[in-house]
Amino acid sequence: MPQQDAPLWLFADQLGPHFHGGEHADRPVLLVEATSALRRRRHHRQKLHLVLSALRHAAAELGERATLVRAETYTEALRGYGRPVLVYEPTSFAAEGFVHRLQRAGLVAEVLPTPAFALSRPEFTRWAGSRTRFRMEDFYREQRRRFDVLMDGTDPVGGRWNFDADNREPPPRGRDTLDAPPPFRPTEDEIDAAVRRHLDDLAVDTVGVDGPRLFPVTPAEAGEALDRFITHRLPLFGRTEDAMLSADWAMAHSLLSVPLNLGLLHPLDAVTAAEGAHRAGTAPLAAVEGFIRQILGWREYMWQLYWHFGPDYADGNQLGAETPLPDWWTDLEADAVEAECLRQALAGVRDRGWAHHIQRLMVLGNHALQRGYQPRQLNDWFAASFVDGFAWVMPANVIGMSQHADGGRVATKPYSSGGAYINKMSDHCRHCRFDPKKRLGPDACPFTAGYWNFVHRQQALLGANMRTARAVSSMKRLADLPAVLDQERHRETF
Ligand code: FAD
Repeated sequence: MPQQDAPLWLFADQLGPHFHGGEHADRPVLLVEATSALRRRRHHRQKLHLVLSALRHAAAELGERATLVRAETYTEALRGYGRPVLVYEPTSFAAEGFVHRLQRAGLVAEVLPTPAFALSRPEFTRWAGSRTRFRMEDFYREQRRRFDVLMDGTDPVGGRWNFDADNREPPPRGRDTLDAPPPFRPTEDEIDAAVRRHLDDLAVDTVGVDGPRLFPVTPAEAGEALDRFITHRLPLFGRTEDAMLSADWAMAHSLLSVPLNLGLLHPLDAVTAAEGAHRAGTAPLAAVEGFIRQILGWREYMWQLYWHFGPDYADGNQLGAETPLPDWWTDLEADAVEAECLRQALAGVRDRGWAHHIQRLMVLGNHALQRGYQPRQLNDWFAASFVDGFAWVMPANVIGMSQHADGGRVATKPYSSGGAYINKMSDHCRHCRFDPKKRLGPDACPFTAGYWNFVHRQQALLGANMRTARAVSSMKRLADLPAVLDQERHRETF
């Protein structure tokens, strides 16, 4: 039992009532803005804004319970505070090591298990047992049973665990947008204005443009964002989950990753709300199952794998990819990019610090995989450039799913595709100067040509995998392959 009156030190991703309410509702709360953490590496400007705004809103809402300390470092803040604090397990290996050092120095009294996820780490360890190969589907079904979500007794509601097949539709023909009701949009306040001034004065090195705040920073805003999504957008979420439209940056996505990752919203609250919509008949089962799979399945799985695979996992480089990230990429120079799909995705990161899942996986990730970008650099780029980027969520998504740099521990095959996939799932190619059908010549699509270039470079690996062997035999039949490879070797613009 933690000391009764010990204060609680909350990190900026631990700001919801599930951290500071309940049995801890009477404790004083310490919040720290450490300038060294803002300067450690270059972050998206809007990410820094969200983090500082969330901390300051938490301090304002907790009132006299909270002390907000501004200091150069966390250690300095804790020393100045003068009382040993309780802290929840942090969300990265680096922060975990740091907290243990603070504990040895007597500044932290105790480390509490985190309430941030549905499944605890010891429960996952028990489930994982001695497995060396993991399948998200097995984990997800176990989560559904354990938390009794979308279940009819021991069977899944609707007789199926998985409605993915219904959720892969291209965008509706002839439409520029999905016409989904707009997502929740917060109203900025004085705290946001002060954060903006503070960031200007600090002159920290940031990337991306400043812009109006688009994501929740308080539990109340997170609740409003969830309600708005469940009531107005969830019905459209499923079918077009993988689709992309140039004029519709948010499609029917929930935009909940920021409040979830800042710890403002508990994942089971999002799951319960979605299940409620199905029971009330306001959203179709395929959409509800698709959304619940993202939160109770993928998100929880990525969190658990971060700890399970250990800190060295992020240095995996099974495909020997050594290309340094180009400056136009790290500086988010979207206007220097000609391929419309890539330009749109990079512009989303520049303008909002956000792009939706298929843009991350099949445009940005796909491009990086084809061009052999160094996976660890890419991992760190995603973490710093996205408003929802946090250390724990990157490795299984970037090193594993997107770059196959882990030897297939997360995904059974590399996610690479040519322009045909992008053309089918989006309207980008209609506005593009490249032709997705062409692999050779001045209008050859960099994704189509890049795909064959990738298959050629990785033919040993792909040829040995039943799911990708056909790509290698198709490549061998391409009469113009040497010219395509030569063209891609000399490609300077995308
Ligand atoms: P929705 O499409 O509405 O999905 C609902 C929720 O499910 C999300 O809010 C998110 O919390 C969760 N979710 C779904 N898939 C995943 C997943 N693979 N991993 C973790 N959570 C998931 N997610 C992040 O939270 N932060 C990241 O920095 C991040 N980087 C990614 C990088 C790559 C290369 C890839 C392939 C995926 C990444 N994801 C990341 C997962 C996913 O793309 C985002 O969670 C999602 O696009 C956020 O938008 P949304 O809230 O509208 O999600």
